[in-house]
Amino acid sequence: MSHAAVPIAGAILLGRRRLSLPVIGIGLVFAMLPDIDVIGFPLGVDYADTWGHRGATHSLLFAAASALFMVALLRPRHYIIASVYLFIAMASHGLLDMLTNGGLGAAILWPWNDQRYFAPITPIAVSPLGISNFISQRGARVLLSEIIWIWVPISVLVGAILGLKKWRLRWLRQNGTAQ
Ligand SMILES: [Zn+2]
Repeated sequence: MSHAAVPIAGAILLGRRRLSLPVIGIGLVFAMLPDIDVIGFPLGVDYADTWGHRGATHSLLFAAASALFMVALLRPRHYIIASVYLFIAMASHGLLDMLTNGGLGAAILWPWNDQRYFAPITPIAVSPLGISNFISQRGARVLLSEIIWIWVPISVLVGAILGLKKWRLRWLRQNGTAQ
């Protein structure tokens, strides 16, 4: 669920002038879409398979192809910004999964390399699969670790960028008129 933090932050920073509502909506869906691969479990797809959990759908190429496909379909006015926004929304999913402390890593370099990767540090507690597992003590621990390692840093980053922007505007207004 916390994957949505990335497109939400992007939407706040870029604003409605650069991103249309449909693009923002698709961004939110894209941030969570890679986990669609869990439908493979009941179908007998192994976790470690190419199309298993955290496999091909978590790759950078899958994110790029999905972003370009959606931009071609939606034809947004600022199509380069929309492409980058959608790519980051989905690519961040695999990258965040690499920071979790369980399961297998993410196949971010598929199809060039099937290997599952983890980041050098894995501070985020891995989210259990399935709702019944989630509503438990472990679920609470996962939520807390996601707040600490995803929501807080992203909020601080967004706040800092917005603050800098405001400061720069004020500086320009004060010094621009003086010249
Ligand atoms: Zn995932």
